[in-house]
Amino acid sequence: MNRSIETIHTAHHQREGGGFIVRRPFPSGQVEAIDPFLLLDEMGPIDYRPGEAVGAPDHPHRGFETVTYVLEGEMEHEDSAGHRGALRGGDVQWMTAGAGIVHSEEPSRALRERGGRVHGFQIWVNLPAALKMTRPRYQEVPAAKIPHAKSADGLAEVRVIAGAALGARAVIDTHTPIVYQDWSLQPGASVVLPLAAELRAMVYVFDGGAKVAGAKVTSGQLAVLGAGDALVLEGAEGPGRLLVMAGAPLREPIARYGPFVMNTRAQLEEAFADYQSGKLGAITRTAQVVS
Ligand code: MN
Repeated sequence: MNRSIETIHTAHHQREGGGFIVRRPFPSGQVEAIDPFLLLDEMGPIDYRPGEAVGAPDHPHRGFETVTYVLEGEMEHEDSAGHRGALRGGDVQWMTAGAGIVHSEEPSRALRERGGRVHGFQIWVNLPAALKMTRPRYQEVPAAKIPHAKSADGLAEVRVIAGAALGARAVIDTHTPIVYQDWSLQPGASVVLPLAAELRAMVYVFDGGAKVAGAKVTSGQLAVLGAGDALVLEGAEGPGRLLVMAGAPLREPIARYGPFVMNTRAQLEEAFADYQSGKLGAITRTAQVVS
């Protein structure tokens, strides 16, 4: 059975980190989470002038995963476990914060000095109670290693970050069943994407428009899908680009505050106390200049 659209939510604008603006379909006043997803942020597209680019300086996370997908621009990250790296167009970082990590997510020095375009996404994926205190884990996959595929007519293209589509299977390992894909659809494109019935699924259009389950959805709109085991994606009058996200619902209580997402208020208080007492660690910076 093909899924149909249950609700459509229009993204609102929200100031984050050091002051950058994101387009955020959820959470919002209406939608706390779409189990197992906790947040979807679109950063940009924005053209920074020299000296303008800002990011998110040192901050902690516990109890879930942050997934960063950069389309344009260069972001650098450092963390309390000693990881350090850069993400460029098409790269993905799947970070399991688990028991806790302190990290920074900043535009590269070159981007800060010269300015430039930034566009990307961060989603938050919840962890089941049994894995909230798991060891932090990183999966960093450069653009060239993200599996991609095209439909036979060439009108639909997909980059598979999680799950499988058009014969391409993700290289990233997820703790629970997750689908996360970046689709480009030209006019005339028509694809049937199998999506297991047990997954909660949604589509976020971020460029142009597309027909999702037969209905037109335009940039900045999130369509939450109903029951079924397949999704029909079609091109609209012009090109469109969208994210498909789906995951097995955890059906557990959510206690969230800022960078911590736990099951109970007591666990949240513990997370704050652990962060304040330094148990989540701190970023060790050497004198070496990050460039
Ligand atoms: Mn973060």
